[in-house]
Amino acid sequence: MSPRLRRERIEYKSGEQILDMRRAGHLIAQVHAEVAKAIKPGITTKELDTLAETMIRDNGAIPNFKGYQGFPATLCVSVNEEIVHGIPGSRVIEDGDIVSVDGGCIVNGWHSDSAVTTIAGNPRSERDVLLSEVTRRSMWDGIAAMASATYVGEIGAAVEDSVFAAVGEEFQHLEDFGGHGIGSAMHQPPSVMNFRTHDRGPKLKNGMCLAIEPMLVDGDAAWEMLPDEWTIVARSGKRAAHWEHSVAYTKAGLIVLTALDGGREELAARGVQAAPDPLGS
Ligand code: MG
Ligand code: MG
Repeated sequence: MSPRLRRERIEYKSGEQILDMRRAGHLIAQVHAEVAKAIKPGITTKELDTLAETMIRDNGAIPNFKGYQGFPATLCVSVNEEIVHGIPGSRVIEDGDIVSVDGGCIVNGWHSDSAVTTIAGNPRSERDVLLSEVTRRSMWDGIAAMASATYVGEIGAAVEDSVFAAVGEEFQHLEDFGGHGIGSAMHQPPSVMNFRTHDRGPKLKNGMCLAIEPMLVDGDAAWEMLPDEWTIVARSGKRAAHWEHSVAYTKAGLIVLTALDGGREELAARGVQAAPDPLGS
C-alpha cells in the first residue's frame, strides 16, 4: 500500500495581489494596535473580539478566522498558559495577564494573519516580559533571515537560534504548530517551522508570502487541547507568548505585510532594507 500524495502547490503572488495583501495586512496592524491599547484589567476577551470585528468590517474587509473550520470569533485570544487558538468569551482580563491576540482579514480575496502579545497592566514578573520579548525578537530574526536565505527551512533555523542565544532552552517552542504560506487562503503550503528539521523546505522565490509565528512556553511546551476543541494550553501550566507577521518575498526585497511600517525599522536594525511599501506610505 502506498499513501495518496498531494503535490504542494505554492501560490506565487503578482504585484497587484501583494498590494491587496498589504492592504489586508495594514488593516490588521491597525486593529492590533487598537486591541493592544484596550488590553487592560477588567476588559473581557469578547470585548476585544468585538472591537476587532467592528474595525475590520467598518473598513470593508472580512475577518478570516470567523467560520474557519467552525471557529466562532474574529480573534484568537489566548491568556497565560493558553498558547494559541483561545476563543474569546466572558473571561475578564486580570492585571499581569499575558494576552496573545491572533487575527487576520481578507481584502479583495487576499488574506492577512498576524499575532501580538500584550501584558495587561503591571507585568507579574520580569520573566513574563522577557518571554514575550524573546518571542517577538525571534520572529523578527526569522523574518530578517529571509533576506539572505535560499530555502524556507532557514527561517526556522534563525528563529531557533534567536531563542537559544537569548535564553538557552529555558523557553520551549510549541511543536506541531507553525507558520505557513498565505495568500488567496489563510493557510497554504509551505509549512514554516520555528526550528531546524531534516526538511530544508522549498526555495524562496519572488511572490512567495509566508506567515512566521513563533510560539514559546516558559518551560515545558507539551500541550493539550481544551474541551472547546480549539484552545491549546501548556500541560505544564507555564505561561506562553505568540507573535506573528505575514511577509512577502519580492524582487525588491521583503515587505512585512502586517507591520504598520512594512517592517522597515525592525529589518533595518538587522541590516536588511525593506522593499518600498506598495501602499506608498
Ligand atoms: Mg495567526
Ligand atoms: Mg498563522
